[in-house]
Order: sequence, then C-alpha cells, then structure tokens
Amino acid sequence: MPSLGTRRVNDRGHLEIGGCDTVELAERFGTPLYVFDEVLLRETCREFHAAFRKAGLRYQVAYAGKAFCTQAMCRLVEEEGLHLDVVSAGELHTALTAGFPPEKIHLHGNNKSRDELIYGLRAGIGGFVVDNFYELDLLAELAERQGKRPNILLRVTPGVEAHTHEYIQTGQQDTKFGFDLASGQAEAAVRRAQRARGVNLVGLHCHIGSQIFETEGFVLAVERMMEFYARAVNEWGASLRILNVGGGFGIRYVEEDRPLPVEAYIAAIADAVKGEALRRGVAVPEVWVEPGRRIAGPAGTTLYTVGARKEIPGVRRYIAVDGGMADNPRPIIYQARYEAVVANRAGEPVEELAAVAGKFCETGDMLIWDTPLARAVPGDILAVFGTGAYTYSMASNYNRAPRPAVVFVRDGRADVVVRRETLDDLIRLDQIPERMRKEQHPVS
Ligand SMILES: *Cc1c(COP(=O)(O)O)cnc(C)c1O
Repeated sequence: MPSLGTRRVNDRGHLEIGGCDTVELAERFGTPLYVFDEVLLRETCREFHAAFRKAGLRYQVAYAGKAFCTQAMCRLVEEEGLHLDVVSAGELHTALTAGFPPEKIHLHGNNKSRDELIYGLRAGIGGFVVDNFYELDLLAELAERQGKRPNILLRVTPGVEAHTHEYIQTGQQDTKFGFDLASGQAEAAVRRAQRARGVNLVGLHCHIGSQIFETEGFVLAVERMMEFYARAVNEWGASLRILNVGGGFGIRYVEEDRPLPVEAYIAAIADAVKGEALRRGVAVPEVWVEPGRRIAGPAGTTLYTVGARKEIPGVRRYIAVDGGMADNPRPIIYQARYEAVVANRAGEPVEELAAVAGKFCETGDMLIWDTPLARAVPGDILAVFGTGAYTYSMASNYNRAPRPAVVFVRDGRADVVVRRETLDDLIRLDQIPERMRKEQHPVS
C-alpha cells in the first residue's frame, strides 16, 4: 500500500485513515462510502501557498470546485486561504450557501447562461473568466444594466495541449473553450473587452490540460501567453495585471504515475513568467493557478463491500463490489486506473490478481482490471485510493442507485459532509400524471 497522508495499517491489520479504522467507517456509515483525509486536503492547499511564497510572486490559488464541490469542502478551502472556481449556478450556490466570500469566487464555463451570469453579478463574485464573444457582450450588457463593472479574464487557447508526459503544440487549437490565439480571435477579444463599459479586463487565462506530469507544457503556454500579454499591454494599452495558467497538476493513481512536487510546477511557471516579463518589458503579473484534482484527488478513498466472486478458469478472476460506475464513472469514461487494498486485511500479503467489477448493468462497469489483492471474499471491505476528484462530482443515480455518503476523517473522528441518499430521495422529484394514478400498494 503506497503511503500517503494519514493512511496506515493499524494494530488490527485494518486500513486506517485520519485515525479512523476504515472497517468501522464502513460498518457505521455503510458502503459505498467516500472517505476524505482532511489533513491531507489541508496539507496540499498549504503546499501551493508555500510554493508561491518561495517563488516570491504575487499569486492566487483557486480550488477548481468541479473536482469535488460540497459545502464542507468550500469551508475547508476558504479556511486554507484559497479562492474558488465554479462552473455553474449549482456550484456557485453551494459555495455561497456555505458562506464562501463571493469576492473570492470566479465563474468559468464555455456557455454560461444568462441566469448564471445574473446570479454571479447579483452575488458580487470576484470575476468572470470570459470564454467567447457572445458571453463578453452579454455579460457587459447585463452588468451595465445593473450598474456594475465586474473584473474579467479572457480565456485564451494558446495552442498547447498537455496530458501526462506529452504536450502537443497545435497552431489553431480545435476546442470549444476560449479565444484562439493563432487566428487573431484573442486579439479581437481584448480590443472588444477594452471598449465594453460593462466589464473591466484585468487579465488572461489559459488551461492546457489535466493530469500533467511535466513542466514543459506549462512553460510553453506561459511563453505564448506572455508574448500576447505584453502585446496587449504595450501595444493596445490594456491594463492587465493577472496571468492565470489554470490547473492540471497531476496525481498518482497507479504506480507508473510520477507527478512532480507542487513546488516544481510552481517554480517552473514562476521562472517562466518572470523571465518573459523581463524580456518583453512588462511588470511581472500576478500568477493565478486553479488546481482541482491535485487537491481533492489523493485525499479521497472509496470503501466498498465485496460481494460475488467469479472465476473463469484460465481467463480471469472477478470480484464484484457494491458500487461502480455510478459512484466513480472515471474508469468507464476515461479508462482511468486505480489501486486498491482489502481494508480489513490491509497488512496481509497480496495473494491474487483480481479484476474489480462494479454492480451496474454495463459490461464496461469495471473499477480496476487485474490488480494485486489479498484474497477478497464476500463481506470484505475494498478500499480504492485516489478517488477524491471527479468521482462524487460526476456521480449519477444510474440503475437508481442512491449516491453514497461522504465523510471527512481527522484525528480519529469522522464527520458526514454529505448524507447518503435514501430510496425516497430517488423518487423525490418523480410525478405521476393524474390520469395514471392508482391506489398505492406500499411494500410492507
Ligand atoms: C478542470 C479545470 C481546472 C482543474 O483541472 P485539474 O486537472 O482538476 O487541476 C482548472 N481550470 C479550468 C479552467 C478547468 O477547466
């Protein structure tokens, strides 16, 4: 079991996180269960602060809420001095109702609705990351009507796309997000934003990918963005002061994954920004980043109860758990990979290779293909690591599965931060048209 955060094997040979025995957590709260190591969440937030302080730059770290957005997570992020990115009215509502300071929230998205823009304006959020001309005009108009002038960044696609170890340079990036740099759209957007009375253009934004293990992609993006930034400042008189380089900092899911320390990413970005600013004769901008996965991912573990085993002689051994694609759609969407342990025998040696199957009605509902495990039998608790990001936030009610509970664990205590859905929650919004109604025959 790779060591991380407060994770360890306790005296009973059980997996322990945050001082809590995970087998007890499974008994007490049921499975599937999302367990977050609160100390690790906080430590990662602090690593970003420390890295920027070391780099000696003015900065802002905004947690990308889409990775995992609940009210308690918003509280934690605020306590750790981070800002927050939201991408929808739903995430914005979650943050505001948790008491997150609106001025520390930015709204993202390639197709923000009129209602979402109005919600953001009314709430007085810190800024909008404007994605396209339609939004620029609409936001400016809505803001003017409210007598406001919100700060905006323009999302630019620099023609660099980074994934894990590779980055791809593309002339004109073919994506739904942002203003294209190569074709001159980004320049036109700057000029249009400068003329608009309803918005205040303060910076530029880019986001080059996710699960990035190298610094080259970030550095190349910074070079392209700073060239453009300097032109906007020096030639077109834009009063820019912020360069936001997005998120995408990688994490370890499986052994082959080799993410860099947070400090390495930030140092490379900071050096590139400083160097480019000097070279191009502009003041060093504030550097903003937007980590999502790096903060939420490693701190999350999902607990499942093992059920059926199926052995196909000479082919494969399947063990099935009581969750799967509804609580973690990443394997079926992205062929994402994970590591797991049998939590109630975490200290025992690995005995077999098993494929961990979900319980949902899709052949592709496999959580892990062929992972080394202690021999798992029905009733055992399986812990899948690194499930904090893009799992609960992507969860569905497929097969009418109630969504699992989420607990934060720390110093031997466990607090439910999202209750488990009940069967009645599943029918909460259902309505039967009058003409189809019949007397109810409740199951006794
Ligand atoms: C998704 C996203 C992020 C966060 O990405 P991670 O890979 O989770 O760090 C940050 N910024 C933008 C604009 C995004 O779309």
